[in-house]
Amino acid sequence: MIRSALFLLVSSLTLLTGCQSTNGPTDDRIPVVCTTSLIADAVKRIGGDRVRVECLMGPGIDPHRYTATPGDIRKLSDAAIVFQHGLHLEGKLGDVLEKPRPGQRSVVITRDLAESRLLPGDGGDGPHDPHVWFDPRLWADCLPPIVAALSETDPESKNEFEDAARAYREEILAVDRELEALVHSLPAERRKLVTSHDAFRYFGARYGIEVHGLLGISTGSEASTRDVGQLAGFLATNKVPVIFGETSVPSKGLKAVIDSCEKKHSHAVRLVGGDDALYSDALGEPDSPGATYLGMIRHNTRVIVDALKSRP
Ligand SMILES: [Zn+2]
Repeated sequence: MIRSALFLLVSSLTLLTGCQSTNGPTDDRIPVVCTTSLIADAVKRIGGDRVRVECLMGPGIDPHRYTATPGDIRKLSDAAIVFQHGLHLEGKLGDVLEKPRPGQRSVVITRDLAESRLLPGDGGDGPHDPHVWFDPRLWADCLPPIVAALSETDPESKNEFEDAARAYREEILAVDRELEALVHSLPAERRKLVTSHDAFRYFGARYGIEVHGLLGISTGSEASTRDVGQLAGFLATNKVPVIFGETSVPSKGLKAVIDSCEKKHSHAVRLVGGDDALYSDALGEPDSPGATYLGMIRHNTRVIVDALKSRP
């Protein structure tokens, strides 16, 4: 009798404890907010299961035009670390990101890049061109500020973060060499890349491609008739057979360039879009080739090289 009463007591205690654990142990991962999907990808690679990553701008979102939602403000106020790109990429999030929150680390991941490695912005003396991820060697140098902030927040996991960052960096640099070889398989006179906006200058500088965007470095303004005419003239003069759409920018303006090429110069140009559109300022959906940074730059480079190899 006593024995079975004891058994019952023990069982109910176990049940009770069991119940408590189904309520979930508190999530002890570091709550992190990243502005762009590119940064979120890097933080996940380095932080692994020690981080809970929220991203403000998901797949296909244009960072130049993005403004904060009430949901974003909530996410930001819950974060232990906020990672942002800087170099005015998040042009309209500036005020929200600058608001100080007690006890929170705010990290600009491009902060350690020497100015001499940065390309000028539109017009020369404004802010620098922010699209540094298109030179993988620069992107690899944006990882240390992430490692530092995670390690300060969770010193016990410092070695894990450093190991993960080292492995990721090596992978990035290996892909960089692979892309260099791929681009160099293209005859030099065919290395001319025309896209919706000027996101690919670092890509061009790294691999030796001449790049032109219909819009400037930011997508904040519309293309003028003059811009359309000039780009059409460039395509016709250089017999460039294709122009490339981007997943985060509407391709309406590019269609005007194609029309102008045909009407004024009798030069046919094909728009590379749809599934082949380039990932410029945002990653793709989770099941797409652009779901990760390495996937996106590989996809872009293959599409660019294949299309520029084809005859008009
Ligand atoms: Zn951009």
